[in-house]
Amino acid sequence: MKILDSGKENTPIQSLLSGCWFKLICGASYQDLPAVRSLTLAYALAGADCIDVAADLAVVSAVKSGLAVAERLANQTGGQWQRPHYKRPLLMVSMSAGEDPHFRKAWFDPVACPADCARPCEEICPAAAIAFDLTHSGVIHDRCYGCGRCLPICPYGLIEARSQPTSLDAIAYQVLSQADALEIHTQVGQLSAFTHLWQTIESQANQLQLVSISCPDNKNLVPYLKELQRIMGASSSAFKPVLVWQTDGRPMSGDIGKGTTHAAIRIAQKVLAADLSGYVQLAGGTNQYTLTKLNELGLMSPDSGSVTALPAVSGIAYGSYARRLVMPVIEQNYYLEEVPHALQTAVTLAESLVLPLKQATIGPQKTQ
Ligand code: SF4
Ligand code: SF4
Repeated sequence: MKILDSGKENTPIQSLLSGCWFKLICGASYQDLPAVRSLTLAYALAGADCIDVAADLAVVSAVKSGLAVAERLANQTGGQWQRPHYKRPLLMVSMSAGEDPHFRKAWFDPVACPADCARPCEEICPAAAIAFDLTHSGVIHDRCYGCGRCLPICPYGLIEARSQPTSLDAIAYQVLSQADALEIHTQVGQLSAFTHLWQTIESQANQLQLVSISCPDNKNLVPYLKELQRIMGASSSAFKPVLVWQTDGRPMSGDIGKGTTHAAIRIAQKVLAADLSGYVQLAGGTNQYTLTKLNELGLMSPDSGSVTALPAVSGIAYGSYARRLVMPVIEQNYYLEEVPHALQTAVTLAESLVLPLKQATIGPQKTQ
């Protein structure tokens, strides 16, 4: 078992050890700055441990602004938002090692749309990223997070996906220097892209508090992750950050319905059984049913005193479900702190997702 040094007590990292790590995923290609700022503020005050965003300087700046407001409110003596045990969430940036659906945007030319089209694309988009009004026509680039739901729905086949891979330029290094944590999205078969990315950023990554590897399922998943572990030297003392394996079940789908959570749980069970170094955290299809299901399966808080206890997941990341929960409030009030009742509503909604995870788990961890 990994013993955290005392300096990491009462920090977001400690939540991994306690099995109650909560991560908000804003989206690896989501760049709606006011929304990112307000999502950060609401979920930080609700007790999130990590805010995961696009590796983009403007987005990072929006997160920092939201975190600064949350910290000020949480430390305001006697104020409505005072939080004696407030922990500043980690700022995580996401990068891709190779092609990845999280790093794409939809695109079409609205001029080509027939006038009588019923616009099913507009209706299906969960991020209100397709509009036909006086200010926007077509895909609103910053809001699109690449979920792909609009792609097959156009009866005229006009919508295409445009890849936005991470470029390892000076800006990427600047972004990394401002982050606490990094997530690398990869898939089985992308070993050379992963190796190139890791070798390029290794020295900076080693200075971060946490590195997360996000990977979808595949029959060769476990050998692939073991190879990544070897490339990163994750079992050696030279590897400094805390390592998290993000089991990406059904990417960007948690708001669709109950069943989306099963894929994330299946892959988490597989990764837990692989006994890798580090912690296991779910994502991809997570929603309000995920915690209940994990508890039913004994994967969240087994008896830490039992030698027969199953290995447990260390936390859950929520993306589209978490965003959709509070976006109706945020869309009406982009500067939440200026509208107290809106901030109250947004934080209460965020807490409805964060607190059950914080309250349901005390115990164990999947660590080495
Ligand atoms: S449906 Fe998904 S991919 Fe299409 S525009 Fe909306 S967010 Fe982007
Ligand atoms: S469904 Fe296709 S044709 Fe219709 S408005 Fe959307 S992109 Fe244009």
